[in-house]
Amino acid sequence: MTPTAAYRLTALAALIVALSDTVPAWRGYAWIFLAASALLYVVSCWAFPYRDCRACDGLGRFRRRRLGGFRRCPRCDDTGLQLRAGRRVFNSLSRHRSRTRRSEGTSS
Ligand SMILES: [Zn+2]
Repeated sequence: MTPTAAYRLTALAALIVALSDTVPAWRGYAWIFLAASALLYVVSCWAFPYRDCRACDGLGRFRRRRLGGFRRCPRCDDTGLQLRAGRRVFNSLSRHRSRTRRSEGTSS
C-alpha cells in the first residue's frame, strides 16, 4: 500500500467516524483531523501545484516497444508534470474571480 493510499484510507475512516454514531467520543477528534488535513492539502496544493503525469510516470515520454526510440507523452506535452486536482480548482476559482472583478471594473 502506498503512503497516499494509506492516508486516504485514514481520512475516509475519520470521515466515517465523524458522520456516524458508532464512537461518539471520537467524533470531535475526527472533525479536527479532517479540518487539519483539508488545510494541509490546500497549503500543499499552493506550495506544490504539480504532480507526476499519471500516463508516463513523470518521464514525459514513452519507450517504443518495437522501434527502440521514445514517443512523446501527449497528456503532459513532454513535461512529465500535471496540475493537481486541488490546484486546478484553485486556478479556476481565481480565474472566475478575476473575470467577475474585471466586468465590475468596466461597467462603472
Ligand atoms: Zn506524461
